[in-house]
Amino acid sequence: MLLNYKLNYMRLKDKVAVVTGSSRGIGKAIAIKLAKEGAAVVVNSRKKESAQKVVDEIVKAGGKAVAVEGDVSKAETAKKLVDAAVKGFGSLDIFVNNAGTITYANFLDLKEEQWDALMDVDLKGVFLCSQAAAKQMIKQGNGGKIINISSIAGFIGFHNLPHYCAAKAGVIELTKQMALELAPHRINVTSIGPGAIQTDMTKQLEDDPKYLKQILARIPLGRLGQPEEIANVAAFLASDESNYITGETIFVDGGWLTF
Ligand code: NAP
Repeated sequence: MLLNYKLNYMRLKDKVAVVTGSSRGIGKAIAIKLAKEGAAVVVNSRKKESAQKVVDEIVKAGGKAVAVEGDVSKAETAKKLVDAAVKGFGSLDIFVNNAGTITYANFLDLKEEQWDALMDVDLKGVFLCSQAAAKQMIKQGNGGKIINISSIAGFIGFHNLPHYCAAKAGVIELTKQMALELAPHRINVTSIGPGAIQTDMTKQLEDDPKYLKQILARIPLGRLGQPEEIANVAAFLASDESNYITGETIFVDGGWLTF
């Protein structure tokens, strides 16, 4: 095996990947990293122009990508994403469930509509997309990788995030369940649980120095993470290097969960 090792080896050469919510933040970094590793990538967001900008970046750098507009909470989007991979690039090998949304309310004030809106995207979206992706991978018969972006909020409680914590805990558990059922088809299902990563989602942290200081005090490495630091783990999980890992959540949090 080691004898086959080549310098500049692209770990995802000839693979086809879908990354949901990849017009910015963590999803964009994952789409670019997978493309750098040789994968053709379906870039998604609710706004075609935003997804197209990422596609243009990848294509300009010599990669392959296509933009697909759609809300992951709708079953038709899952089908559109799988079809774009298969019709555009010939197969579907890697599906990254990254799209997510966040709103804030304490438990006693949380409205039913707020709960439903967040669950639809952060948990139901993962179910719908993964089911469509797994069916296609099973049809192809070559296995595959499904990677779900969860959160440390799926493992510990956070003030003002009852629905987000519950959705992300759901993603972690669904990852295990899917791993169990899809293992016979050689489909590995894993999850990445980011800590505090510098994106639009955490922008309010940076705008609030007192809150930022409190957050940094919780992080042994003493800084926010960068989207590329999640993308590096996603590329590993998407590659053959992780073939014996399934059902697992890898927390990428600067050590937050260690104390
Ligand atoms: P972000 O900067 O807000 O980006 C979210 C991305 O998802 C955008 O591309 C957005 O594009 C897209 N999106 C939102 N709702 C969508 C929907 N219904 N359908 C399709 N696309 C949708 O967020 P991020 O910080 O990169 O977070 C990415 C993932 O990591 C999320 O699942 C989040 O929960 C998780 N996470 C983030 C952190 C963090 O500290 N940043 C920590 C833990 C977990 P449009 O708005 O154009 O649709």
